[in-house]
Amino acid sequence: MSKIENYILGNWASGSGEGVPLFDSVTGEIIGNASTQGIDFAEVLHYGRSKGGEKLRKMTFQERGNMIKSLAMYLNKRKEYFYEISYRTGATRVDSWIDIEGGFGNLFANASLRKLFPNQPYHVEGDPIDLSRGGRFMAHHILVPKRGVAVHINAFNFPIWGMLEKCAVNWMAGVPAVVKPATSTSYLTEAVVREIIKSNILPEGALQLICGSAHTLIDSIESQDVVTFTGSATTGRMLKSHPRIISEAVPFNMEADSLNASILGEDAVPGTPEFDLFISQARSEITVKCGQKCTAIRRMIVPENLVEDVQIALGKALDKVTIGDPRLKEVRMGSLVSKDQVEEVKNRVKEIARTASIVYGDLDKLDLIGADAKGAFISPMLLREDNPFENLTVHETEAFGPVSTIMPYKNLDEAIELAQMGKGSLVSSIVTNSDEIAKDYVINAATHHGRILVLNRENAKQSTGHGSPLPLLVHGGPGRAGGGEEMGGVRGIKHYMQRCAVQGSPTTLTEITGIYQPNSKYKETPQHPFQYHWEDIQPGMSLKTHKRTVTDTDIINFANLTWDHFYAHTDITSLKGSIFEKRTAHGYFILAAAAGLFVYPNKGPVAANYGLEECRFVRPIYHNDTIYVRLTCKQKIERDSVGKELPCGIVKWFVEVFDQNDELVAIATILTMVQKKSPFVQI
Ligand code: NDP
Repeated sequence: MSKIENYILGNWASGSGEGVPLFDSVTGEIIGNASTQGIDFAEVLHYGRSKGGEKLRKMTFQERGNMIKSLAMYLNKRKEYFYEISYRTGATRVDSWIDIEGGFGNLFANASLRKLFPNQPYHVEGDPIDLSRGGRFMAHHILVPKRGVAVHINAFNFPIWGMLEKCAVNWMAGVPAVVKPATSTSYLTEAVVREIIKSNILPEGALQLICGSAHTLIDSIESQDVVTFTGSATTGRMLKSHPRIISEAVPFNMEADSLNASILGEDAVPGTPEFDLFISQARSEITVKCGQKCTAIRRMIVPENLVEDVQIALGKALDKVTIGDPRLKEVRMGSLVSKDQVEEVKNRVKEIARTASIVYGDLDKLDLIGADAKGAFISPMLLREDNPFENLTVHETEAFGPVSTIMPYKNLDEAIELAQMGKGSLVSSIVTNSDEIAKDYVINAATHHGRILVLNRENAKQSTGHGSPLPLLVHGGPGRAGGGEEMGGVRGIKHYMQRCAVQGSPTTLTEITGIYQPNSKYKETPQHPFQYHWEDIQPGMSLKTHKRTVTDTDIINFANLTWDHFYAHTDITSLKGSIFEKRTAHGYFILAAAAGLFVYPNKGPVAANYGLEECRFVRPIYHNDTIYVRLTCKQKIERDSVGKELPCGIVKWFVEVFDQNDELVAIATILTMVQKKSPFVQI
């Protein structure tokens, strides 16, 4: 029997002993055996921390992002191979699309976040904090990659996406991963990891894979590690309270069972687009991935006078769902992952059905296309619980399959209360064309849900749907959903980094952060700063300009040129009682005049003016006042060059305008595109 292998310590290795058999969910055939026997998990974790961690930590965010992007492109080219294997998990092509291309899409989306991070291995967060009123003592927060390993313990339902959505963020942060997929579908994760390793895109040690049981893995966790878990609440709670997690104070992110609710708005009566949207969304949430989605709709909360309508319409929609071999085009719903899961789901349905009635589907009868009872098939099941405030099983029991329950509400307050009775979920949705209802629901329900979708006729065509976690949005939920906020773009990346408040002088902090801090020492340069290429520019490089006296004529001319005839610039008889004492220069004139002072006019490495980020006019400039400017490099932002365009980076310049008494008059941050040195440019 072939072995599903582990990728550890730089090699593919099969565990000793026979291992456990993994089955094709559709045919029941054995695919191979998985074993972790003989693997020293402590050694695996140590290898990740030392070998992979050391290399990743040294890379900049730009390098890590580009690496992840290359990986996504590489895997995408091989997607058809993964689709073939994915059928064996019982998934249709549509189901697999979420897992395969959704997983690669997640890599792309997270790779793009490099643009929000500095071109260095660590991050600088938020604004500087002045601790001495403009003096010589300040603070800034930095985030550095943890020196541990990200351990991902995953569920069986998304063997690819589950791995990649988590790894994308730890790699962006500069932290290696050890992935432990659920054993039953680990053969698909193994296939992807084989391609990843073959690609040589990741540094060695950045990814290790354990296929099979890993019950002692957590015993070797250390304080710099981060653990994420997706699976059942029972296992999750057990691992979260593991003595090692507690003694080493290891961040443990858990995503567990979630009894997600969808609400039908009272306005969404039959005949409205919203009613139809509710039905089609419910059908796809029940059947996609055979209902094995942590975000699937388990509870449908419906106005009491519409329960019958929903039941009938959804029944008709489910009648159209063909079930069988997921390879066949005509099949809409494949199988569950295993025969064990079929039994598990049936038992859960029976539990709910102790008080609720089954209104659609039969646990024992099923018409199949191109498949037989050897596969892990089950019918879509629709239940109806008429007393959801008294009978609580429906709010407590997750049947992890194509199962959902309709329940009635009398008014929106009741709907909100019912939704909250799930005690915290990953996602909730409301289908309504009334923004008033939507607002009321969202504001009052948001405490209990990680994400809320408001679906209506306006967004339906473009909506990504109730069940799709998106890489840049929070994915996770309070309470029963695990209490985590895992993933979700920048938030997810920061989860793998240590935040540290650094205190010191502005000059020291300029060096540490790579961002010019106000009041830090200027670095005077022999040439005008605009004469340097990107590579030679440093934060703190500065120029003090010559001076210019602002005249009455300048102000009048500017007013006429721009048609800005605000009284302070044009009518000196109206100044009494205002904050102005004399004819006042326009703020935009000060800014424009500042540019006139600091710009280096000759053709050079500055390719273009790219815009303005912040601007404050601190005090008025009157006619006959004299101004000068301090132009200081604040920060450099890496930028990818597209096609044949000249390679450029963005430089932010801190502009300070002073008057004749050296009083600050205005500040602004301006952006320029500055050419990088290249073979085509004469330096
Ligand atoms: P489990 O909680 O049993 O397993 C999840 C992961 O934890 C698997 O990788 C499993 O490995 C691993 N694991 C189990 N015990 C340990 C341990 N002691 N130490 C380390 N790792 C461990 O969930 P299942 O995947 O079997 O699914 C069971 C139920 O969980 C489903 O029926 C469903 O109700 C729920 N579920 C919820 C999901 C959600 O996101 N809301 C997603 C998937 C499942 P192994 O496979 O080797 O046992």
